[in-house]
Amino acid sequence: ARLKPAATTDMVCGFCSTGCSLRVHLNERGQAINLTTNPHYSVNQGMACPKGWEALTPLSAPDRVTTPLLRNPATGNLEPVDWPTALAAFVKNFKGIQERHGKTSLSFLSTGQIVMEEMALLGALAKFGMGMTDVDSNTRQCMATSHVAYKQSFGFDAPPFTYKDFEESDALIFIGANPCIAHPIMWQRVMMNKHNPDIVVIDPRRTETAMAATLHVPLLPKSDLVLLYGLANLLIERGAIKQDFIDAHTSSFADFASFLREFTLDRTARETGLPAETLHRLVDIIATRERVSLWWTMGVNQGHESTRTAQAIINLALMTGNIGRPGTGANSITGQCNAMGSRLFGNASSLLGGYDFAKAEHRSHVASILGIDPALIPDRASLAYDQILDGIDKGSIRGLWVIATNTAHSWINQKTFPAIREKLEFLVVQDMYATTETARMADLVLPAAGWGEKDGILINSERRLGIVKKVSRAPGQALSDFAIFKLVADAWGCGHLFAKWSSPEAAFQILKELSRRQPCEFTGISSYEHIDRSGGIQWPFTDKDAIAPTPIHERTSTAHPERERRLFSDGQFFTPDRRAKFLFDQPRPMPELPDADYPMILLTGRGSSAQWHTGSRTDKSDVLRKLAPRELYVEINPIDADRLRIANNELVRVRSRRGEADALALITSTVQPGQIYLPMHFDTVNRLTFPAFDPHSRQPSYKACAVRVERI
Ligand code: SF4
Repeated sequence: ARLKPAATTDMVCGFCSTGCSLRVHLNERGQAINLTTNPHYSVNQGMACPKGWEALTPLSAPDRVTTPLLRNPATGNLEPVDWPTALAAFVKNFKGIQERHGKTSLSFLSTGQIVMEEMALLGALAKFGMGMTDVDSNTRQCMATSHVAYKQSFGFDAPPFTYKDFEESDALIFIGANPCIAHPIMWQRVMMNKHNPDIVVIDPRRTETAMAATLHVPLLPKSDLVLLYGLANLLIERGAIKQDFIDAHTSSFADFASFLREFTLDRTARETGLPAETLHRLVDIIATRERVSLWWTMGVNQGHESTRTAQAIINLALMTGNIGRPGTGANSITGQCNAMGSRLFGNASSLLGGYDFAKAEHRSHVASILGIDPALIPDRASLAYDQILDGIDKGSIRGLWVIATNTAHSWINQKTFPAIREKLEFLVVQDMYATTETARMADLVLPAAGWGEKDGILINSERRLGIVKKVSRAPGQALSDFAIFKLVADAWGCGHLFAKWSSPEAAFQILKELSRRQPCEFTGISSYEHIDRSGGIQWPFTDKDAIAPTPIHERTSTAHPERERRLFSDGQFFTPDRRAKFLFDQPRPMPELPDADYPMILLTGRGSSAQWHTGSRTDKSDVLRKLAPRELYVEINPIDADRLRIANNELVRVRSRRGEADALALITSTVQPGQIYLPMHFDTVNRLTFPAFDPHSRQPSYKACAVRVERI
């Protein structure tokens, strides 16, 4: 009875990109006391994964940072200070660096975890107010590939699907994706499919999703590009392509078809390690099922040739006409709750709203909406995450502001980060906790509010804008990231540039204008309240789409009365000639191949639906800690375990040329002989990974490197 809510309110979850709606229970003072799920929201229909159920717990963790902390040079310790002191230190140190080394000697690394309005304000403040040029976000580590692949192929970063496609496909092909663990509510939507679909998983490892699939295709690590080209060639040979769609809506298919001729059945089988029968079966599925959808996540995105691999998936959808219809699509599933917001408003690779920094007319247009001098907008896109870290290493960048990400743990070349940090003259970390590996290295820590302690919008994988609300007071002096950016702007002396950004909702109105006439337009949304009562709204949503939605509480849990906003149903893409492009390149070998010293291949991935990223939030929950393994484990095939005389649960050492990690052996045939698997959440895993990057997206290649396993 004590916990009986005085009221409830609905808001989207702040962990993954699924964007489930949670029903937060409030006390008489409007403070969150509990949560359940929202049965009326089309995305999750009353379901949530363990992280969602535990979403409030990290807010009350004892190690929340409650005041700014400044490193005392005398003691070497981070010590509490008030906000004026913290802001003065921020400005003095960062302006000092710019005076000594130039405007572009400052940079930030941010996150796909903060709301869209905060991302946009940060990007605008840093570039137009503080003079930075090179900034990036941890979305580089997860979604940069999809962003670039869609932009090049479709003319805009536009994932075409809705979640209804999970239920409407005759065949779902997951490539480098493990939704059972990484996107469990999306997997539940697959389970709602009544079409008796083929469910194919293309993955070297027999993942939880592969075990549940109708066909697992265990290709050799990083042979995905060859496989996709081989399948495309077999489909052409079989005549199983949609020539009328290709002729009407695409360009450069003839060049692609000619390029594919060398990807014969023999070559594809040899280079992927797959039997010809498996390849034929895959081709049969694609050729004979009416509605085929292709889904990818990090197994594709985190590769050394990831953009072309994503585009090979897009090419398959285009050549078979599997796009723009229910149950089809070349569909990238995003990772973080607001990676999609970052892709539109991160102000790193693209200018706010998906514009191009290099085009003067785009800079003028954005400047006119913001009411600023166009000369304040840099004329080139930012360097990428790895290039920013290289810049620090080489001395061109001397000051770094890290917001809600944990570079010291998650960076692919983790071992180099402490030395890189030493080259920084000033490191600011803005976070909910001062206990992350990166925050512990900071000169200044700014205490930030978390999800549930602030207002704003997150955009999920199907392009749906959802609302988060302030239902809990941030502890001590912690402030929303939005409020911190406003304070920094005023302290820096550029607050007048952001006078119109008076609140998150006022910022939303500015972003709406930036979206006008872009493919991502959402000018038909009047307010936060409009999104709230609509059950989220997918872009595009223009003025003419703004019919009155069915109030969410009048819906049933099984009906989805809001319009499904699948893209490209008219076959018109966002390129200048409105045609999608076939883009392709020769496959390249894995950057680090196994050899006599390091004879095995390390695979990495998400280990549990109860863990998130580096664990900075999920580790705060007793429930989530109990649901996920507490110690690092390594999956080893029985044949390798026998050869190495390793027993189950024995502590072993995994070694690469970069470093080592100790892990408990889990002997299992989920991995193939010669391959091992480590879950990514543990802090020693990125001592091992190999820093290779896709040349188009600069996304790191976390998924495969050469290692050996030793008994200790
Ligand atoms: Fe939150 Fe994602 Fe879990 Fe849904 S699936 S509850 S959005 S973490």
